[in-house]
Amino acid sequence: MSEILIRAADTILTMDGTRRELQGADIRIRDGVIAEVGTGLHSQGETVLAKGCVVTPGLVNTHHHLYQTLTRAVPGGQDALLFGWLRTLYPIWSRFGPEEMRISALAGLAELALSGCTLTSDHLYLFPNGSRLDDTIHAAGEIGMRFHPTRGAMSIGESDGGLPPDALVEREADILNDCIRVIDAFHDPRPGAMVRVGVAPCSPFSVSRDLMRDAALLARDKGVMLHTHLAENDEDIAYSLEQFGCRPGQYAEDLGWSGDDVWHAHCVKLDGAEIDLFARSRTGVAHCPCSNCRLGSGIAPVRAMRDAGVKVGLGVDGSASNDAANLVGEARQAMLLQRVAKGADAMSAREALEIATRGGADVLGRPDCGRIEVGARADVAIWDVSGVESAGSWDPAALLLTGPTRVRDLFVEGRQVVRGGQVTTIDLPRVIEQANRLARALAG
Ligand SMILES: [Zn+2]
Repeated sequence: MSEILIRAADTILTMDGTRRELQGADIRIRDGVIAEVGTGLHSQGETVLAKGCVVTPGLVNTHHHLYQTLTRAVPGGQDALLFGWLRTLYPIWSRFGPEEMRISALAGLAELALSGCTLTSDHLYLFPNGSRLDDTIHAAGEIGMRFHPTRGAMSIGESDGGLPPDALVEREADILNDCIRVIDAFHDPRPGAMVRVGVAPCSPFSVSRDLMRDAALLARDKGVMLHTHLAENDEDIAYSLEQFGCRPGQYAEDLGWSGDDVWHAHCVKLDGAEIDLFARSRTGVAHCPCSNCRLGSGIAPVRAMRDAGVKVGLGVDGSASNDAANLVGEARQAMLLQRVAKGADAMSAREALEIATRGGADVLGRPDCGRIEVGARADVAIWDVSGVESAGSWDPAALLLTGPTRVRDLFVEGRQVVRGGQVTTIDLPRVIEQANRLARALAG
């Protein structure tokens, strides 16, 4: 049995059923689970003093492409729209191998952890030169993050009218077989799971209608979740209308891509009927505000989605289209962007933080994460609000208005992954050096 007591936090934002905020309170963690929340708690184990700190549930990232960490700020893609950006980067990605996948994942996961993230999904949809989903799963195990990798895929190459070069696409039978392999090898359906695998064809414009339908059948047969990109920008809508004769929401629904076990990234261009469909079917959305700004895709109708009852989480999206992966920064951007569209009262700091924690956990089918309450997994972020970023604040718990953008401490399943602002589980300076070396080699 292992116990940790987080003691005397200035404020705990629990994100529990009634969104309680506790002052001067403690959290007792036992065997990776939150055992007690309250004041004046005692424990036999290690004590972590949280005076001068705000404590939140670990943040949840619902959309990422970790491999892109090695292709940030590529000059030819810095100012392009989505499709042009992809055409610039595909040839570079085709030179990746297992080592690039591992190092990019370690660097990307460390960056997320330092910004408060304890649970992240990943969408890996190209497997050049012997790369496998396994490379990223092992990386997540090394750093100790809770991980929902999704087995992505592309099957329509340039010669068939698709966007990616032929060298990066796979045969559809091979894709489905590898999905089965990684689910059988790594997916853990139990509460408290550290790894859950999803099935995730890249987007409706890079795989066939048959693969979309077969992927949904396979995921339901295996009891795993489904994920893809949907309705990202105007080009995406135009492509759907021209190729499929319907909007993306209709296309998704026709092929089995709606329901509580499905979440779609972006959804910037969902219309009212599609928002109703998502709410009715309990389909989730990964909102990626920085990526949407970076690629000029637009402002997702998150206010309307939330008001309609759509499940919304946050995603930093790939590091090549953000190009940062700071999840608490992403939450601030989500708050600001809704205000640009709908006014200053469109989204509060606390609501954006709720989307970043509880919201994301619900999107990923993890009601055991994203909240601080008895029985939930001990995924906890401790934010030091005694620094200059919060100096003069009348409400330091409004973390997204002031506050630090890096955690002081981070616990995943009760294990300390960040201590005093440093990642404890991997040699991060060495990973950074390796990432820079690999990026230089890809550029050369
Ligand atoms: Zn993406």
